Amino acid sequence: MVRSPRAARRAAQAKGVPADRDGLRAALAMARLPGHPAAVTAQARDLLLAWFDANRDPHDAILRQLSDGSAATRIGHALLARSPEPEGLACAKGCAFCCILPGDDGGTMTGVEARRLHAALPPADGTAPWHPEACPALDPDTRLCRAYDARPMICRTYVSRDVSACEAIAQGEARPGTGTLAPQLAYVTVHALIRAALGKGAPTFALKRIAQAAANGIDIDAALATARHAPRNLEDERKRLARGIRR
Ligand code: SF4
Ligand code: SF4
Repeated sequence: MVRSPRAARRAAQAKGVPADRDGLRAALAMARLPGHPAAVTAQARDLLLAWFDANRDPHDAILRQLSDGSAATRIGHALLARSPEPEGLACAKGCAFCCILPGDDGGTMTGVEARRLHAALPPADGTAPWHPEACPALDPDTRLCRAYDARPMICRTYVSRDVSACEAIAQGEARPGTGTLAPQLAYVTVHALIRAALGKGAPTFALKRIAQAAANGIDIDAALATARHAPRNLEDERKRLARGIRR
């Protein structure tokens, strides 16, 4: 029987998580993100399928790597590694206004990023934070990240040409002059495509809650439980980032 792409997509969704490699590839190839910029979705899909085609791990392992964010994070890191750094950035070591995170969320991470950040962060030693709302991973004396190598994509891609804008934003003032590099949108889009293909899973987590849990000595399972986002968060995040490229 020959099915239209829409009918095939509905059939794949009705079956739940694909049980074999071919079905999984078809689900990834057919996943849709309504309203998302077509060029961004197409680029993310190509990167995801290239990752998938190069991965010869067993089916269960690939499913795990898709859901826990290993795929999206690896793709995001590879894009960042080959992206030239924009000229004129004000970013420098110890310049940490971007590590002041109002509220208790702090940004979107995949599961693998949450685990890496938690594992890299020893409990805090009781020293007062540099700023009351500083990320718990920020060293108050040096203003350097205590988990630099394990920092998530959101921290790797957030940049600015105007440090005064960062300082104003940290004080709650809306100011232009900062932004995220393009690989952040690709990474979020890849993870959203994976969730659309699997029909569930691919959760995200709140950066600041994971860092706070690690600083408080709370174990990873409890940390993940308290930091897990509602599904809506990833959708809101990809729409927010996509709005930035339409301006
Ligand atoms: S984003 Fe802003 S606060 Fe962060 S390092 Fe760059 S200039 Fe400094
Ligand atoms: S994880 Fe590190 S880089 Fe990211 S906000 Fe926290 S202190 Fe800053």
